[in-house]
Amino acid sequence: MCGIVGYVGNQNAVPILMEGLARLEYRGYDSAGIAVLSPQGTQAYRRVGRVRDLEASLPRRLTGKVGIGHTRWATHGQVTEANAHPQASGDGRVRVVHNGIIDNAMDLRDALLATGSTFSSETDSEVVAHLIARSDSATLEAAVLDALAQVTGTYAIAVTDELHPDRIVVARNGSPLILGVGDRAMFIASDLAALVRHTTSVVHLDDGELATVTASGFRTFSRDEENTAKTPTSVDLTTSDVDLGEHQHFMRKEIFEQPESIERMLRGRLDERFGTARLDGLNLGPRDLRAFRRVKILGCGSAYYVGQIGALMIEELARVPADAEPASEFRYRNPVIEPDTLYVAVSQSGETADTAFAVREIKRKGGQVVGLINVVGSTIARDCDGGIYLHAGPEVAVASTKALTHMAIGFAMLALALGRVRDLSITDGQRLVAGLLGVPGKIKEILADEPHIAELAADLARARSLFFIGRVRGFPVAREGAQKFKEVSYRHAEAYQASELKHGPLALIDAGLPTVAIVPDDELTDRNVAAIKQIVARNGPLVVITHSSVADAEPNLRRITVPKSEPELDPILLTVPLQLLAYHAARTLGHDIDKPRNLAKSVTVE
Ligand code: GLU
Repeated sequence: MCGIVGYVGNQNAVPILMEGLARLEYRGYDSAGIAVLSPQGTQAYRRVGRVRDLEASLPRRLTGKVGIGHTRWATHGQVTEANAHPQASGDGRVRVVHNGIIDNAMDLRDALLATGSTFSSETDSEVVAHLIARSDSATLEAAVLDALAQVTGTYAIAVTDELHPDRIVVARNGSPLILGVGDRAMFIASDLAALVRHTTSVVHLDDGELATVTASGFRTFSRDEENTAKTPTSVDLTTSDVDLGEHQHFMRKEIFEQPESIERMLRGRLDERFGTARLDGLNLGPRDLRAFRRVKILGCGSAYYVGQIGALMIEELARVPADAEPASEFRYRNPVIEPDTLYVAVSQSGETADTAFAVREIKRKGGQVVGLINVVGSTIARDCDGGIYLHAGPEVAVASTKALTHMAIGFAMLALALGRVRDLSITDGQRLVAGLLGVPGKIKEILADEPHIAELAADLARARSLFFIGRVRGFPVAREGAQKFKEVSYRHAEAYQASELKHGPLALIDAGLPTVAIVPDDELTDRNVAAIKQIVARNGPLVVITHSSVADAEPNLRRITVPKSEPELDPILLTVPLQLLAYHAARTLGHDIDKPRNLAKSVTVE
């Protein structure tokens, strides 16, 4: 699930591995380790806690020209030094770092124990090191293939072997792995962020693919040892994309990047004359778009909530039935796949295991699926029939902000394209195109209100529990707002339909339970105002996210005012103050905002 780095070249691997691990920190992890090959053999160091703790524990003279490193997010076995990676074979000759889960680890472990192996960790990963060391194949490549032939599960692995000290062998199945091509050096990483300082020339491995890397280059091959000729591609990423700059946290940096990143996303994709969106990456012509009778959106966590925003936009603008479902549920319920349904997979990383699985299930059953993905070349992006790349730039904070806004805009464009081949008029299309073009400027206005939002957040952070309420368009906004608040502030935040309040949860309202209410100026405003009056009548503290027209009519409300957009696009802007509210609540409480406890950036395990 977490991070892998590797280096083979003429320089000392240690600082390169440590820098790479630090760049992967944002993904969330619980322990870290490295192993380097030197003339004295393999030297390995592991630590529970932060990468900087590992760094502090390394001997000053540690050098080696081949090395692997890992940040672990424990799935099998406690968070201990013995369970941290690299994992070793019994004699220490072979070292393995592994992301993912070996499903048949228990059976393999029993078989190995029965034939004399002893284990030094509780991890599923250790079996891989033992199996490789036990193979009597002459090459490391063949030994790794022998081992993987016995293994089922998901993995990205990188392997060193003292018998073959010039190389690292890597393999991928269901967890991302990238090679970086340097000048007489090769790099390995599970995430581009770890490569940017060194190279922009990369090779994405496919599932079922392996590679050997040495100082002089790389060779990729399949499980049946056929070469898979891969040419490196160049990535458009610089260190400033993954550095903090003037900001104290990545979450804030990414919130403030939105006006510019959205402008970039919209560029060239909106057609002002015909009031529609040009989405060439979908690989769907007007006839294809017209033929769909239903849209089904799949995502996990926040991507699922944005999917609900998207489903509403599609129903409103295209009048095609649409709904969103957590991919994590969908994949396990033997879903009915319909030929005239457009499936949409939503994921920032493009590596979310549950969503990736759902995509494969849809394709296996002959369905048509497109992606709303941020990371170019990622697993889901490659598995889909087409898609809309989000172009949000790298997102480092675990709690997603800008990628979600980009997803909502992606849905607005998809709804527009689906609507304009149906009954959405050209005038309405033009109105929405103008609305979308106005989003970046309006987000700037919201961001300028940060000091006021921070004050309200500091107050809300004192409560142990909160409600977030909204109605129809506002409800998925409330769900996402509550999710963000939970993730970084660790406060219990529950989203409710404003319409359902009186059917139960109103019983909880008192002076100690604040509510954040989403109240756009639309055809439901009066109903929403009625709901918040019921809260006020019970002394419930309130913060209302609303438009100035509503705020003027109800001057006594504590509020955050958001510029008005086209009603169908309101959810996009209403989400932004909720990002700042969560950020500042977490800041008030002194939490590790970019790396909230127990969470990881891309959830590549089940
Ligand atoms: N399943 C392995 C473990 O628990 C690897 C976890 C990871 O991906 O970091 O050690």
